[in-house]
Amino acid sequence: MDSLLKHMVHMTGHRDHAMLDLSTITAVQELTGAAQTRILSLGKSGSQTWVRARASIRGDHPARVEDQLEAGRGEPLDLFPALAECLASRAPRAEQGDSAQATMWVPIWIGEQAASCLEIVHSGAFTAEVVHTIDGIVGVYRNFHNLLDYSERDSLTGLLNRKTFDDQLARMLHATPEPPLPGQPERRQQPATGQEQWLAVIDVDHFKLVNDRFGHLYGDEVLILIANMLQSSFRSHDRVFRFGGEEFVVLLRSTTADNACRIIDRFRKAVEAHVFPQVGKVTVSIGFTSIKAYESPVVTLGHADQALYYAKTNGRNQVCHYDQLVADGLLQTVAPTTTVEFF
Ligand code: GH3
Ligand code: MG
Ligand code: MG
Repeated sequence: MDSLLKHMVHMTGHRDHAMLDLSTITAVQELTGAAQTRILSLGKSGSQTWVRARASIRGDHPARVEDQLEAGRGEPLDLFPALAECLASRAPRAEQGDSAQATMWVPIWIGEQAASCLEIVHSGAFTAEVVHTIDGIVGVYRNFHNLLDYSERDSLTGLLNRKTFDDQLARMLHATPEPPLPGQPERRQQPATGQEQWLAVIDVDHFKLVNDRFGHLYGDEVLILIANMLQSSFRSHDRVFRFGGEEFVVLLRSTTADNACRIIDRFRKAVEAHVFPQVGKVTVSIGFTSIKAYESPVVTLGHADQALYYAKTNGRNQVCHYDQLVADGLLQTVAPTTTVEFF
């Protein structure tokens, strides 16, 4: 009992999804004597569902967060027939194996959705007592996961809110290079592949007019649809935020300048082509910049904002790249300020 309480205290002592994942699989592993426990993400791309490990623990080793870039999209659900059937029938759990080794999947149902799933590998069949323990841990996980989501997400669009931005940016910067040494060009410090992290600021054009002409409710609808388009335009390891009002921020992981520009412009074009119910056509302007580990979030946001301002004052409905505008002499680099003003 002491051990169970210790794990419950641990699981609910975090303010972060990754830490909740780690303490949950550690609790399952230790309290059920499992050989391996993983927490899986269940993501949809078109009609295909993908299964990707988010965190895992094996034997007595410490639990670890899986590298999402390495994991890519993961594996198709078809490779997990028992889990696929469980999801299709909304069953609470699926089991496969024999008395020597068995695997159990427990989808974490939140309403009609199961975006996460526990996978437990056990040497020997699962006893009723072990299943009871797993169900209890999943219950605590679900409740606490909901609470964390509530504090991290924007209630209108479901996107991450501004509060979580600094943490997410710090995580993304983990692997970025040091500042250039005096007299050395910055380029040499970049990885050989030319891959960098990117920050884009997106602002809806003339959004005030949408509200004025069609009312706030239709304005809200446009914001929700744009948020959905953002979610589907960017990759699962990128991060999309609503910064307030009609302003969104995207953190793009590890890609080249050309790719970043292409991905961001693909989103701009998708908005331009979309016919919004009642409202019709809406466009967005976007400023983006590379993220340097040695620059503060305020400076990075300021650069993207300068590029956005350039896009706004030069016709709107376009994507502007800060570093390119500076290289072309169209923008001056300015001393960092402590506040960032969006449109
Ligand atoms: P620009 O192209 O220069 O960005 O023009 P704009 O009209 O989009 O910019 P402005 O900053 O003048 O107006 C933003 C508007 O966004 C004003 C505000 O009423 C509206 N807005 C902010 N938050 C919300 C919201 O949550 N819902 C709705 N419907 N409107 C919002
Ligand atoms: Mg605007
Ligand atoms: Mg604005």
